[in-house]
Amino acid sequence: MSYVIGGGLAGLIWAYFHPQTEIIAGADLEERQKDWVIPLPKYIYDTPQSRRFLEQVLGEKVKSRTVNVGICYKDYRGIVPPKIRDLCRRLYYEKTRGVKLEKEKPVPKEAMGSGKFSFEVLDFPFHNLEQELLELMRERCIFSNVWKFDLANKTLFLDELGNPSLKWAEIVVTIPQPDFWALCKGYEERAMFFKSKPVWIYDADFSGPDWFWRSPFDYFLFPDPTLSFFRITKGPDKRVGIEFSEEKDMISQLSSLFWKEGKIWRMTVLRHGKIVSKHSGSLSWEVNFPPWSEEIRFFGRFGTWKSDLKVHDLIEEACGHARKMSEPLEGMQK
Ligand SMILES: Cc1cc2nc3c(=O)[nH]c(=O)nc-3n(C[C@H](O)[C@H](O)[C@H](O)COP(=O)(O)OP(=O)(O)OC[C@H]3O[C@@H](n4cnc5c(N)ncnc54)[C@H](O)[C@@H]3O)c2cc1C
Repeated sequence: MSYVIGGGLAGLIWAYFHPQTEIIAGADLEERQKDWVIPLPKYIYDTPQSRRFLEQVLGEKVKSRTVNVGICYKDYRGIVPPKIRDLCRRLYYEKTRGVKLEKEKPVPKEAMGSGKFSFEVLDFPFHNLEQELLELMRERCIFSNVWKFDLANKTLFLDELGNPSLKWAEIVVTIPQPDFWALCKGYEERAMFFKSKPVWIYDADFSGPDWFWRSPFDYFLFPDPTLSFFRITKGPDKRVGIEFSEEKDMISQLSSLFWKEGKIWRMTVLRHGKIVSKHSGSLSWEVNFPPWSEEIRFFGRFGTWKSDLKVHDLIEEACGHARKMSEPLEGMQK
């Protein structure tokens, strides 16, 4: 049997293109469903493949729209001059990852959404896609957490008594890679090679200043290191999603800038909100990669630990893999 580990968008996309797989979707679905409604800057880029996929899942045509990103730095309310954009990207990267970049080194490619300030997306709420896919594949889901992986025996355990246990022929890991290694008997220390930084997200009503609501931007980025929040996303009915890189009193932080009045509905912490670094490529890691590794595939932003991976990349990869696997079969049938 082939199992996908993790029932987030990455796991669901893989399973959609691979109908023989079962999904070990995690135990926290109810809790996660609440997160689906927070106004967050989550978009699916409009590419021919992502469009085809979405229209197939929804059974209807999907429009596209342009997303505009504003940068607020010093007195600039959304539009900073091109000559300080690089500085903003550098500051933003340092602030959100909690690192200091060397001055002479170029700004990492993925900094500030890879420096894209306007892009075309499919006009459909991101979280609805998760819900639709889940409904389509609910019978293939096991709503439990994996408690332990025994790699040598290709077995996973769904509770601490080791019962039930499931044997696999192949697993596709979409849960954060450090969490995966922490659950692998005998390989737990690998988890420490992966660094991330949490993000605190507030779901709030926000009266804010007029310029904020009147501006053409969907969300704003705040590179200023003296502010603890780094992104505010506009939602419907003056609702906003505010992301912090530190645990701070939200109202006091915002009121110094422009918070007038409002209400906080909820706060969520994303433990691996920002991916910082991957394993250092130490010899023991690379050389001693055991033979079982061929039956394990890492997939998705958190599974592969690649911070620039987006959903349209996953659709392309999963669809391409499924096609490749079916080619010899089709050839045989002809
Ligand atoms: C703030 C933010 C904004 C983003 N914006 C975009 C965007 O605009 N466009 C884009 O393409 N991407 C974006 N991403 C990146 C990423 O594509 C999305 O976050 C995507 O929804 C991640 O899906 P996932 O399946 O990889 O992870 P998750 O949604 O985190 O799913 C992981 C799943 O694994 C399960 N799980 C965890 N542990 C276990 C276990 N032990 N056993 C079994 N199951 C387990 C959980 O219950 C969960 O269901 C963004 C990410 C963040 C954090």
